[in-house]
Amino acid sequence: MSTCPACGSGHVSVSIERERYCPPYGEPVSYDVHQDTCDNCGMVGDFEDVNSGRIEKEHSEADRKSVEPMIQYLKEQGLHMVYIERVLGVPFGSIELLGRSGPSKYEIALIRLLCMFPEIIHKMDERMSIMRITSLGSLKVRELHGQNDN
Ligand SMILES: [Zn+2]
Repeated sequence: MSTCPACGSGHVSVSIERERYCPPYGEPVSYDVHQDTCDNCGMVGDFEDVNSGRIEKEHSEADRKSVEPMIQYLKEQGLHMVYIERVLGVPFGSIELLGRSGPSKYEIALIRLLCMFPEIIHKMDERMSIMRITSLGSLKVRELHGQNDN
């Protein structure tokens, strides 16, 4: 039985609402959200904090499941995983593996970023190539700047 945190009343009504979450490129999920309303003072909230852990779990699971469709989307954009992995400097096969393992929030965020801006991987490839070459000496730097300034 909930107690109102504002007035201390035990006369609290409980309602359940259905909430929906759809991660980018993923499938929507819906889940129950618990809501308390104090019959004495009218305060509304999740008095016993039953929602936060459950909602976080639903979102995490939906986010994890969105990785496979995101990898598929990147392939449809003509990006090979081996190319992405080479540019990012991550082990070959590791991106495909993310869909089957438990990716971290950072890994999911990175894949989302690539899906939203696929051209970023080509830009990064260009920059990385220039940075690797410029480390050979100042002559090369000038040559590259001349080429890129048009
Ligand atoms: Zn109250």
